[in-house]
Amino acid sequence: MIELVSAERCIACDKCIKVCPTDVFDRGADGVPVLARRDDCQTCFQCEANCPADALYVAPVTRPLPDDSPARDQEHLDRTGLLGSYRRHLGWGPGRTPAALRAVGPSLGPPGSGGASPPITS
Ligand code: SF4
Ligand code: SF4
Repeated sequence: MIELVSAERCIACDKCIKVCPTDVFDRGADGVPVLARRDDCQTCFQCEANCPADALYVAPVTRPLPDDSPARDQEHLDRTGLLGSYRRHLGWGPGRTPAALRAVGPSLGPPGSGGASPPITS
């Protein structure tokens, strides 16, 4: 569930508004998105993944957290590194290594070698 939009970090790029499949956000007068239809959030993380300013936090729960939850507190999210943490784990953004390159798997060997094939299990 989307919990916080950081007005301090937001650069008003509209990406979260465009990618949200359920139209949760409206553009505020200052360009910072507002959670106009929060109950429609499907916890898909697309907004957080696509925010270039790490200004969003989506909690890995399917129900809204209470207003006094630390997950709704900008200072707590800043201090714990949770703002934009999903995007960071994906490795999206300048200077980050895409998660697909950090995945653990069988060595594929050099190009043309045939590489190691994963075992057939079914
Ligand atoms: S988590 Fe998905 S559904 Fe929820 S606000 Fe972000 S983009 Fe929209
Ligand atoms: S994607 Fe991030 S920076 Fe862009 S409008 Fe949304 S919250 Fe602001």
